[in-house]
Amino acid sequence: MTTLSFEFFPTKTEEGTEKLLKVRDELAAFNPEFFSVTYGAGGSTRDRTYAIVKAIQERGIAAAPHLSCVGDSKDDLRSLLNEYKDLGIDRIVTLRGDLPSGAGLASSELRYANELVEFIREETGDHFTLEVAAYPEMHPQATSFEQDLEHFVNKVKAGADSAITQYFFNADSYFNFVDRVRDMGVDIPIIPGIMPITNYSKLARFSDACGAEIPRWIRKQLEAYGDNNESIQQFGEEVVTEMCHRLLEGGAPGIHFYTLNQSEASLRVWRNLV
Ligand code: FAD
Repeated sequence: MTTLSFEFFPTKTEEGTEKLLKVRDELAAFNPEFFSVTYGAGGSTRDRTYAIVKAIQERGIAAAPHLSCVGDSKDDLRSLLNEYKDLGIDRIVTLRGDLPSGAGLASSELRYANELVEFIREETGDHFTLEVAAYPEMHPQATSFEQDLEHFVNKVKAGADSAITQYFFNADSYFNFVDRVRDMGVDIPIIPGIMPITNYSKLARFSDACGAEIPRWIRKQLEAYGDNNESIQQFGEEVVTEMCHRLLEGGAPGIHFYTLNQSEASLRVWRNLV
């Protein structure tokens, strides 16, 4: 069975939350396995992430809060884990996180995601299903692809159950990553994270920051469309649908959409797949 999940980020205003709850309801009709909600490293969105997680859980769908370790103390993490347990949460997306200033790593009690996985296992045993991040095109701060793969394997050895990838637009990077880590003994599901294409300039900015490559032929075509959003969206839908087809045919166990709190673009791709 192909799994489906969606990512949201916590809203800042009541109006934003109302809109997001509508999006949640539209997407819920497609029976996703879970909705995940991002977390601002250092706890900057702690209350807002919690509020959205609660609103999802109340709709009767599993919510999976993201939790990152840089800039949060073990006490902060422990109390948040307990709050999530009390809310009935049983899945966490377990991350290192990025502090905006880049500071905080040296002074953090937990410095890398594998340490957070270990900490959650020590504190809560097998209560939570733990998702970790995977980078088919290499994490931007990694010193080499080999080391990055080893660091990924460490997260799995620490007790991760499943992984969600950074987004990419080249299916071969996913297949290569999966083959490499399978050779290193990893057998957990690795779900491709999919970013629908709706806006070129935002996508280009995001991709530069997180190390996701937009292939030249896609970039050039999107640039050529200029302000023609309809063409961008149509082309984006075709390109992303085609890649998802390849991923699923090649054995990817599901799709995790980076929704950016919108339903339409993800659903257009998903409907083409099922
Ligand atoms: P790690 O797995 O710890 O890796 C981080 C870097 O350190 C890598 O380069 C790795 O090779 C290296 N490394 C790992 N272990 C060691 C070690 N022992 N010694 C030296 N180097 C090491 N960010 C947020 O702030 N909030 C979110 O909600 C969020 N959600 C995300 C969801 C997904 C699915 C993905 C893919 C990313 C998300 N991010 C989020 C971004 C993520 O926090 C950043 O990419 C961050 O820089 C790395 O997090 P990680 O968990 O992959 O870290």
